[in-house]
Amino acid sequence: MKVLVTGGAGYIGSHTALSLLASGHEVVLLDNLRRGHRKAAEIVVNIAGSRGAFVEADVGDANAVAAALTDHGVEAVIHFAALAYVGESVELPLQYWRANLAGSLGLLEAMDRCGVSRLVASSTCSTYGCPDAEFIPIAESCRQDPVNPYGESKLAVERMVRAHAAMKTRSGTPFAFALLRYFNVAGCDPQGRLGEDHEPETHLVPSAILAALGRRPPLQVFGRDWDTHDGTCVRDYVHVTDLAEAHIAVLEKLNPSSPMVFNIGTGRGDSVLEVIKACERATGRTVPCVDAPRRAGDPGLLIADARKIAAELGWRARFSSMDETCSHAAQWFTANPRGYR
Ligand code: UDP
Repeated sequence: MKVLVTGGAGYIGSHTALSLLASGHEVVLLDNLRRGHRKAAEIVVNIAGSRGAFVEADVGDANAVAAALTDHGVEAVIHFAALAYVGESVELPLQYWRANLAGSLGLLEAMDRCGVSRLVASSTCSTYGCPDAEFIPIAESCRQDPVNPYGESKLAVERMVRAHAAMKTRSGTPFAFALLRYFNVAGCDPQGRLGEDHEPETHLVPSAILAALGRRPPLQVFGRDWDTHDGTCVRDYVHVTDLAEAHIAVLEKLNPSSPMVFNIGTGRGDSVLEVIKACERATGRTVPCVDAPRRAGDPGLLIADARKIAAELGWRARFSSMDETCSHAAQWFTANPRGYR
């Protein structure tokens, strides 16, 4: 299948493009390069040969996206392009609403215009907010009640996709979609071809590894007074290559008569302190840390119930240990001290 990957020069988009290629698909990467990396796109396009192309454009620019869809004969879209930092979304809510909502709107308008009717869209566990303990691990049926602008904007995107698909199906031109709610994504391509390079970098695993390697100040531990086993926040960290493979499994099963909504996680939780220990084992160094207040917008505990996608599509995380995830990340950061620069 020929697949447009929005945000294709970004962390998850580029890894997913590699998995698409490995599964025999063709990729067209679309990215405005504001947060994505030209180098990541080049690496993917080089590996792809005649099965890959890169288009520099903003996903919210419906005309540019429509041109990419028709020029390349795209059959399906995997939509990653978005802003995705919880903390930043609290500081810059309007930028989050614009990037995430207007971006997805431009994409849907372009797909509509070009008759492309297959979409896998990224969403997030942040749409669940802070579920009560009885709802953890979190199933797809859990009430969505986000507590930060990032989660709010992604929930709005979910609703927009659903409404568009319902209208298309009513009007006799069925639209097949899947919404994938990611938990925390970490790690790098096990073969070391691609990595994680954000500016600013706020995610825990890369921040801890970079602190261990002496390439950034000590890691701030955001709160030690959470209601968790060691007082630090607990998250479900899924390896980026596992996440990428979940997209392929979903893409190949898209069906207009049965929209898919899946959590993507491992079903296992690791605390901030446990992740720090895994990063220390992966780098062979100490992660320098300082205690810091809770970060605005952070829930204390998020763990996926990922049994639905396992039961329906047979997908489950292959790289199930935090040690493996952190060691792939540490290898890439060690081999690429300046990231993609
Ligand atoms: N975290 C931390 N220090 C950091 C970055 C993150 O203590 O420098 C914590 C954060 O409070 C959260 C967890 O690590 O509980 C994962 O944060 P990340 O930003 O990686 O992902 P998020 O859960 O916000 O999507």
